[in-house]
Amino acid sequence: MTYTTGRSASPGITSGKAFIYAEQDLAFSTVQIENTEAEQTRLKEAFDNSKAELDEIKNSLTGDLGEEFGHIFRAQMTMIEDDEFYEEIIDAISSGKICAEAALDQIFSGYADMFSSLGEDDYNRQRLLDLTDVYKRILRNLLGLESSDLSAVPAGSVIVAKDLMPSDTALMNRDNVSGMITEKGGVTSHVAILAKSLGIPAAVGVSSIVASAKSGNEILLDTLEIDEAKIWISPALEEKKQFEKKVAGYKNKLKQLEEVKGLEAVTTDGKKIELSANIGSLADLESAINYGAHGVGLLRTEFFFLDTPTLPDEDKQFRFYKTIAEKLNPGMVIIRTLDIGGDKEVKCLDLPKEDNPFLGFRGIRVCLEYRNIFKTQLRAVLRAAACGNVKVMFPMVADVTELRAAKELIAECCSELAAEKLDFNPDLETGVMVETPAAVIISDILTEECDFISMGTNDLTQYVLCTDRINEKVSEYYRMFSPAIFRAIKAAADNAHKNGKWAGICGELGGIPAAIPVLIGLGIDELSMTGQMLPEAVSIIRSVSYNYCKETAEELLKLKTEDEIKSFLQKKTLN
Ligand code: PEP
Ligand code: MG
Repeated sequence: MTYTTGRSASPGITSGKAFIYAEQDLAFSTVQIENTEAEQTRLKEAFDNSKAELDEIKNSLTGDLGEEFGHIFRAQMTMIEDDEFYEEIIDAISSGKICAEAALDQIFSGYADMFSSLGEDDYNRQRLLDLTDVYKRILRNLLGLESSDLSAVPAGSVIVAKDLMPSDTALMNRDNVSGMITEKGGVTSHVAILAKSLGIPAAVGVSSIVASAKSGNEILLDTLEIDEAKIWISPALEEKKQFEKKVAGYKNKLKQLEEVKGLEAVTTDGKKIELSANIGSLADLESAINYGAHGVGLLRTEFFFLDTPTLPDEDKQFRFYKTIAEKLNPGMVIIRTLDIGGDKEVKCLDLPKEDNPFLGFRGIRVCLEYRNIFKTQLRAVLRAAACGNVKVMFPMVADVTELRAAKELIAECCSELAAEKLDFNPDLETGVMVETPAAVIISDILTEECDFISMGTNDLTQYVLCTDRINEKVSEYYRMFSPAIFRAIKAAADNAHKNGKWAGICGELGGIPAAIPVLIGLGIDELSMTGQMLPEAVSIIRSVSYNYCKETAEELLKLKTEDEIKSFLQKKTLN
């Protein structure tokens, strides 16, 4: 029996037989060659085969899992279709008189070093992952090896792997997978996104799991806690018994949650809380609706702009927003305008590299400079707002002049749309994301001029606590339960209410079950979260009184440290 831990990437509790997904052996020897032309032909064939494979995966995904995943493969396709990359390998073959495998490896290593030197942010990590995936695909084709995918996993498998590349999981027989465990990958990795959207429990960052487990070993996987994932390999009888008890409890809970799914989120004494979902794609929307979502409190629009060589036009954006608005009508859809920054490369915008990207050119700052891009998006939003209950929200606002500038552009767009005789909603409601300390401090000023606020606690935590949200070195300082955060939330909610406006939360904190009563007690009117968390949120809200929430919030505000707050919330959850 082996017990180990990792990080929860997708919540749940499950068991199954280990399916060890080992990497293919792609070893090769560097061979000096005379006939460079024949070698270049081999390379061309390997590229062609790889393109065809990627095309097939991309097509099978786009319709199935939604645009977001098709998008990942489009990014890889762009790499493989990059003439420069191909030509460099061709040149390396003829100049070095080396085999195609060695030439590919040489050029790939150069690019990999470059990506690594750009820093360890999520975006660069992702690009490197995609490039590695492309490299391995071409190399495998050069070596004449069959593609090893997960389409043949037997039923009831828990996939155990060092890492899972997007293309590994693309053809996976999802019905047969009951869990996923990887050594690498963070909570925002592909595995995590995929597992969450499929509702499969997943753990990442589980060191040495591939060496510890053997194919066919029984695996127990518990990812129910926010942070810690628990894994047993070949468990002892007693552990199995304990685990099965927990599974039974969880199944029971899911059954109960099934009954409240989609019900109104109203406290026992009649306070109604708006519950909505965070989505970034149509696949997320479908999943959220299955979990009972009636509205969207945060539509992240970034994926339209990432990786594509050309800007998404107004009609493309309009159709996307309209589909969501119509599907949820009369439920609301809050569209967040483009929130990109120096930490994410956007091919179609030539943004400067920055030393301090999180304090740099990002969020609304980018939109106000690239006015045409911003206006295209605003026009699409205004038009979609004629088809449903659509609102717009601006990220990273730190001053009321930014809100004013955005509203002026909306007014300009309205005049243009009216002149063009296109349908739109001239009364589009506007909101501000409270993500900067400044936005909290001036929330009284901001809420005089917008219709609502929504607190982006992921960034708010980063900026209030001066802690880079993706820097693992300081992750212990990224205290999402810090007293500073709860005080900030209360201050902003109070200011919004004084101006007769509502206040929501769309950061991760809003979807943490133990925090929900407190957030309501602090005055939060709306909570937006990953679809999967909605049923539990409904259940919690329907089991507490507003009075209880207020009292609990008051008690919490007296606490001085994050640890005190965590144990307080834990105790409250157990009671
Ligand atoms: C946030 O910052 O809390 C938020 C919801 O936005 P994002 O995570 O997309 O920055
Ligand atoms: Mg944010």
